[in-house]
Amino acid sequence: MKLDKIAEVEENADLKKYNTYKIGGYAKRIIHPYSLKDVKKVLDEIKKADESYYILGNGSNVILPDEDYNGNIIVFDLLNNIEINKDKDEIEVEAGVTLGVLNETLLKNEYVNFYWANSIPGTLGGALVGNAGAYNHEIFEYLVSVTVIDKNGDLIKLKKDEIEYGYRRSNLNKCIVLGAKFKVEKGDVDEARELIKEQALKRMKSQPLSMPNAGSVFKNPEGDAAGRLIDSLGLKGYSIGGAMVSEVHANFIVNGGNATSKDIKELIKYIQKEVYDNYKIELELEQKIVRWN
Ligand SMILES: Cc1cc2nc3c(=O)[nH]c(=O)nc-3n(C[C@H](O)[C@H](O)[C@H](O)COP(=O)(O)OP(=O)(O)OC[C@H]3O[C@@H](n4cnc5c(N)ncnc54)[C@H](O)[C@@H]3O)c2cc1C
Repeated sequence: MKLDKIAEVEENADLKKYNTYKIGGYAKRIIHPYSLKDVKKVLDEIKKADESYYILGNGSNVILPDEDYNGNIIVFDLLNNIEINKDKDEIEVEAGVTLGVLNETLLKNEYVNFYWANSIPGTLGGALVGNAGAYNHEIFEYLVSVTVIDKNGDLIKLKKDEIEYGYRRSNLNKCIVLGAKFKVEKGDVDEARELIKEQALKRMKSQPLSMPNAGSVFKNPEGDAAGRLIDSLGLKGYSIGGAMVSEVHANFIVNGGNATSKDIKELIKYIQKEVYDNYKIELELEQKIVRWN
């Protein structure tokens, strides 16, 4: 594969470094395209070599398999440009920008409407695919359009109303997200920074931030909280292998040090069964189980 001018490449890469659960095997190759234009070239090279690929953001919402991957992981961490159009109060953001960097860049320009996203440890691409959100806000709220490579390999721009999305989901999972345009709003920057501080403190107290995890495991069922249901069954601290229901927040599974993907998936099934048997509620996964095809 001729990738030297279009991407940085790591051969035989340890995937544990690429996800917040710190699980998984090795990938044949991790490819970091240099620019948006290079993404298409990288895809062409992979196709020519008749190999497969998987797109990974910050790995903060995925459960990677234990097995090695005989394919290419594409990571957009070098696609991290943000362009601000102050006349129109709009921004163009590339898919690899992390939400924390996005918010900080906006605050420096007096735009405050992404303050809620500051503590979500994902990239824009991952956030759009899962419609990430917090504190009654979500990433689709200020969205204008998304630039994607669709399943036919065409580079297209989708307006917000051409995308299907809902609570922690969107049909962008069928595309490769390259970037997006958002409306931005000016406001009181000091107040926004104060809110961010409060939210970070709240998270430090209520989430197991010192142990590897991938955020909320389950979506909240209508009118209830997954964490409350799991906690009510006394499952905090329950473990399978190295995976444990967090003692701090019952809707988090933490890697106690040597958890495997299998441990996490078995624990998920166990929790789902317990909740169903006791409440007749089917907990839906928020995290994404990845399979190498
Ligand atoms: C401590 C902690 C707190 C969290 N708090 C929140 C929270 O408050 N709210 C919330 O919504 N989430 C939260 N999360 C979950 C997670 O951070 C978000 O879902 C985040 O948006 C995922 O982004 P990512 O880049 O890590 O995506 P990844 O986990 O890398 O990928 C998620 C999915 O998106 C796909 N994907 C990623 N990038 C692209 C792309 N460019 N094109 C196409 N597909 C792509 C991947 O293939 C995968 O299917 C939290 C996680 C942690 C660890």
